[in-house]
Amino acid sequence: MDSRYDVIIIGAGVVGLGVGLEFARRFPGRRLLVLEKEARVATHQSGHNSGVIHSGVYYKPGSLKARLCVAGSAAMVNFCREHSIPHNICGKVIVATEQEETRRLEELRNRGEGNGLTGLRLIGPEQLHEIEPHARGVGALVVPSTGITDYALVCEKFAELISATGGTILTRAAATSIHRSSSEIVVETSRGAFSANFLINCAGLHSDRISRMAGDDPGIMIVPFRGEYYDLLPERASLVRALIYPVPDPRFPFLGVHFTRRISGKVDAGPNAVLALAREGYRHADINPRDVAACLGFPGFWRMASLHWRNALGEWHRSLSKSAFVHALQRLVPKVQDNDLVPGGSGVRAQALKPDGTLVDDFQFVPSARVLHVLNVPSPAATASLSIGKSIVDTATATLGLS
Ligand SMILES: Cc1cc2nc3c(=O)[nH]c(=O)nc-3n(C[C@H](O)[C@H](O)[C@H](O)COP(=O)(O)OP(=O)(O)OC[C@H]3O[C@@H](n4cnc5c(N)ncnc54)[C@H](O)[C@@H]3O)c2cc1C
Repeated sequence: MDSRYDVIIIGAGVVGLGVGLEFARRFPGRRLLVLEKEARVATHQSGHNSGVIHSGVYYKPGSLKARLCVAGSAAMVNFCREHSIPHNICGKVIVATEQEETRRLEELRNRGEGNGLTGLRLIGPEQLHEIEPHARGVGALVVPSTGITDYALVCEKFAELISATGGTILTRAAATSIHRSSSEIVVETSRGAFSANFLINCAGLHSDRISRMAGDDPGIMIVPFRGEYYDLLPERASLVRALIYPVPDPRFPFLGVHFTRRISGKVDAGPNAVLALAREGYRHADINPRDVAACLGFPGFWRMASLHWRNALGEWHRSLSKSAFVHALQRLVPKVQDNDLVPGGSGVRAQALKPDGTLVDDFQFVPSARVLHVLNVPSPAATASLSIGKSIVDTATATLGLS
């Protein structure tokens, strides 16, 4: 195969493939290589998420997350429709279980409207009962534009379209070192060396390491937060019609355990957010000493721990004790019982952490000469992947000189 390309993308998750698809559409005939260390696309975050097409209600107006989620969710729905990928705009309810949370619901409604969402409605317990008969709360916010799909299928379609336009997706090809000169970038991989004019780092849980490999200082560390799910038994799936969420704690980037009806019809509960002891640590037993040492050696980790230790203990408690997990779910749907739930899957979020202990909230794309690093693309990045692709190709065109 060729060893010379115009652009190399590291990472065939939904973001790398979204960027690749936009590049292939905008620059037909240019040589594109997507490197993926695993045997398949979407092996990590993109194939282990909740499958929700977020509407954009949560994000700070004007932020990249808000803009790219709102544009991206419309683009994702159109993409699914155009390519016959199963999806359903089922809507969701965000449920206030205590009176104090109703003020936060109003703030969320205002925020959502600030982001251009329409149809948001604050409702009382009776209307909530009509929408979700088993949910209980003092009030709720209805978000009608939220939907569900299967992002692993979306990724497969992205990959198929990239290949159809002449792009190459090379799996089992882990980038192991990067050399830069004024005229080219050479990426050494487990399947040989490849050179290009431009490099885009979409390596998810490893994006900070790829940044360092390219000779840059990422300025953040990726911290892996595992999200664990339980599945509702099929005979109890009728407890949930669509999507039932709690009011999120504004101090954290995670949404709190919730109920999600998948596009397959299965209902799951979760995900929590537990610090994982390996970047690809899908189970408690997965421990990677290198990843643990990297965390412990990063000053921001200790600052984060001192700020959020109480919350972290709560997450660990819910992770180790099923009854604590069920208790959190019963706040939303009191009828859910311990024996209605069986352990489900898990996913690991790549969350960027600053040296001062702050969790990076917004998406972060950092250009550096002919390289662009995608350093923080947590949820709703799957929803926003098509508009992230556009935004990154715009940035690469404007700042890297890609044309
Ligand atoms: C539990 C969970 C629930 C979520 N729910 C939702 C949701 O409902 N809706 C939503 O919009 N978003 C959701 N998200 C977020 C969303 O899944 C992610 O933001 C998105 O998948 C990130 O995509 P990515 O391409 O950056 O990362 P990834 O999918 O992790 O892809 C990165 C790829 O880079 C590859 N790679 C890494 N290092 C190398 C190397 N050295 N060489 C070659 N390849 C390499 C990896 O193997 C991987 O395939 C969720 C995430 C999680 C974990």
